Amino acid sequence: MDTTLREDLLPRRIYNRITEITPEELSSLGAAALLLDIDNTLAYDSSYTFFPGVKEWTRRMISAGVPMMILSNTYTLRARSMARRLGLPYLAMAEKPSSRGFKKCAGLLGLEPASVAMAGDQLFTDIRGANAAGCIPLLIRPQHTEILFYLRYQKLRKIERRFLAAEGLLPETEAPAENTKRNGMKEGNTDE
Ligand SMILES: [Mg+2]
Repeated sequence: MDTTLREDLLPRRIYNRITEITPEELSSLGAAALLLDIDNTLAYDSSYTFFPGVKEWTRRMISAGVPMMILSNTYTLRARSMARRLGLPYLAMAEKPSSRGFKKCAGLLGLEPASVAMAGDQLFTDIRGANAAGCIPLLIRPQHTEILFYLRYQKLRKIERRFLAAEGLLPETEAPAENTKRNGMKEGNTDE
């Protein structure tokens, strides 16, 4: 993998859930605002259903004075509906990893991209785009299997896991499939 792509795919920090991000955490990263992906970050993929705790978390962040904005590749109608329910501004059809949407959001927030963090679940759109725009990339581990374009996502997630494993960024509980299988077989043999 070429060095530039490798660097563009590297998140600054990794979280298991969006709700782990606090105003203090953002300050420690030098972030004055937070951009949010929708699918598999705030809500179940391709749905209108937020993950548990997301609405409460959004309210807490807003009352703590953290400017937030949704930056999504989804179509306008859905982004608008989701954003309204959270009381957030949004930019839809952002074509991430294009850096345009990231820069536009930073501009709307009156900030330089360098002081804006982006939280998303995909290395090739959220993290790559954030790095390209000069934003602070925060990876949220995907919680659920995508329903739409299932096979495409399956392939993509495999590549992401391999990349994160090579960078030492995968938790041990989530070792690459090959290893899990091998360990499983070993355990099976012991029982015999
Ligand atoms: Mg997503």
